[in-house]
Amino acid sequence: MENLSAIKRIENKVKQIPDAISLAQGIPAFSSHSLIQKEVIKAIMNNKVDKYSPIQGIPELRLIISEKLQLSGMRYDTNTEIIVTAGGIEALSATMLGVIQPGDEVLYLSPAYPYYERIIRMAKGRPVPIPLNEKAGWNLDIDLLKNKITGKTKAIILCNPNNPTGSLLSKKELVTIGILAQRHKFIIISDDIYENFYYKEKPFNLCSLPQFRKQIVRIVSFSKDFALSGWRIGFVHADKELIKKILPIHDCLVNCAPVVSQYAALAALKNEKIILSEYMKIYAKRRLLMGNYLEELSDYLSFIWPGGAYYFFPKIIGVVDSESFCFDILEKVGLGTVPGDDFGPGGKGHMRLCFGKSDSEIIEGMKRLTTYFKKYHMPKPMI
Ligand code: PMP
Repeated sequence: MENLSAIKRIENKVKQIPDAISLAQGIPAFSSHSLIQKEVIKAIMNNKVDKYSPIQGIPELRLIISEKLQLSGMRYDTNTEIIVTAGGIEALSATMLGVIQPGDEVLYLSPAYPYYERIIRMAKGRPVPIPLNEKAGWNLDIDLLKNKITGKTKAIILCNPNNPTGSLLSKKELVTIGILAQRHKFIIISDDIYENFYYKEKPFNLCSLPQFRKQIVRIVSFSKDFALSGWRIGFVHADKELIKKILPIHDCLVNCAPVVSQYAALAALKNEKIILSEYMKIYAKRRLLMGNYLEELSDYLSFIWPGGAYYFFPKIIGVVDSESFCFDILEKVGLGTVPGDDFGPGGKGHMRLCFGKSDSEIIEGMKRLTTYFKKYHMPKPMI
């Protein structure tokens, strides 16, 4: 179990402690929406879910995906440019195994979702983190990015909005990355699983500019915005030449995404407006709820309000080893949080808190965190 990410180890420990609660893993608290449940039950009763689907997914789902993409200025062919996957993680894994060769370098912005590094290594690539600048609001330094590009650079993974920092890349930054990708012939793997979680400006989508379409693989998931994490369903879309490389890997990994979950995704997209407007209003309130508690803890930590996703990523004053710190919080006050070190070197001394949980979990969790700081953690000078 030691080689599991800290997120998983913390969550395993939370389950062993009676009354412990978790603001660690990014799991939305909502149950599957009743509009989704009803459609899925119908599909089950009509015997639609019992057999494999085409490798790319059921045609009805690919059709609605391509129609939705078109509404955002993205034209992708239903048959040759969309694959329904078993969540974002399978989409990322199939993409990485499909587009890189052993020894290729893959860039990603750091702090980052820990599985990027793991997936790059699984595909025998070399992970190349590009540190974001926290003092400038987790900004990307484009010159730093340019310096990391070599003859072996094969891909860059972007997460917009970013997990764990909640920061967004601007249109200008994305277009610059697009131009660099064209010039140096690397692929952009755009992990957009938090695209609907934004609290100020809407994230810009590089796929809406047709000149970059040969360069981009876009990853989308139903786990977060539609709160369907247990159904394991998402999709990937890209130019057909890239999809040709990804499809055989997807076939080897899962053959097809779970068919029952494909019907859940179909129902989600049919009812997208109702479901997302309901959920996103709640997330905006929960962001304020958690952020206001954190502001009361300014003697102990500093943080940047997230513009997107559903995490806070505060820096804890005087803490270097955030893994021991987060395990100590869990032991002393029964609260699960994710050590910042899990997100790479830029996460050192930070912790991640998810506000995708229920109001009552957030309130109780933040009370426990306050107790921990006041009782067990003396504020120390900033290092
Ligand atoms: N990408 C990012 C940035 C994530 O945070 C996650 C899950 N936490 C995933 C991909 C994978 O999600 P899923 O497989 O549930 O779609």
